[in-house]
Amino acid sequence: MRRRRTTQDALLAAARRAGVSDERVLAAVAAVPREHFVPPGAESEAALDRPIVIGSGQTTSQPSLIASMLAALELTGTERVLEIGTGFGYQTALLAQLAAEVYSIERIASLADRAREHLAACGIEGVEVVVGDGTRGLPEAAPFDAVVISAAAREVPSALASQVTDGGRVVAPVGPSGAQTVVRYTVRDGRLQDARRLTAVRFVPLIADDDTTGRG
Ligand code: SAH
Repeated sequence: MRRRRTTQDALLAAARRAGVSDERVLAAVAAVPREHFVPPGAESEAALDRPIVIGSGQTTSQPSLIASMLAALELTGTERVLEIGTGFGYQTALLAQLAAEVYSIERIASLADRAREHLAACGIEGVEVVVGDGTRGLPEAAPFDAVVISAAAREVPSALASQVTDGGRVVAPVGPSGAQTVVRYTVRDGRLQDARRLTAVRFVPLIADDDTTGRG
């Protein structure tokens, strides 16, 4: 119990240092024990504001970056949200505190399985983790009020905008590898508009099922 409190306090301080001021996002960071969303043996790293390797060539992102991206979604608690790239489910757990309904897509089935276990172990409900290719969005559950992508592509996949409500937000790392930026868009008339660049980042690649280059 003691260690958990300390982890969440440390990540809360890191989110504030990164400029996150949305009280709901900060409360979510304070509520979710990150050590439940890292591989066995990595629990002691959970309090550090750093990415952690989760296997299958993937990482769970830097917590303060996750908090910044979620703040950019400007959620009030009533929304339906789509997350692309579940990983081990830490960001999914935060989203569950911030929105009414959360759908999360992960292309690697073993990671989706771990994420479901971690969410269940923390008693987190109202989340559906789906195995599939998030570059296609999730048409069967659309429309969404907000979409957050946790893997980088040259641009936001074209299938997504039509699955977002008018005025909804999309937050995603975009750009060529080595020069990625988190961008927040507002969807109007079924198109991504009002691009606002938030921060330079390095993410794992968003890999489409039909990608033949093997790197998104
Ligand atoms: N949100 C996670 C980040 C996990 S890393 C966190 O809490 O830190 C990004 C994840 O995106 C990886 O698990 C990777 O397998 C997944 N991914 C990459 N391309 C994808 C795609 N096309 N559809 C769904 N998931 C994808």
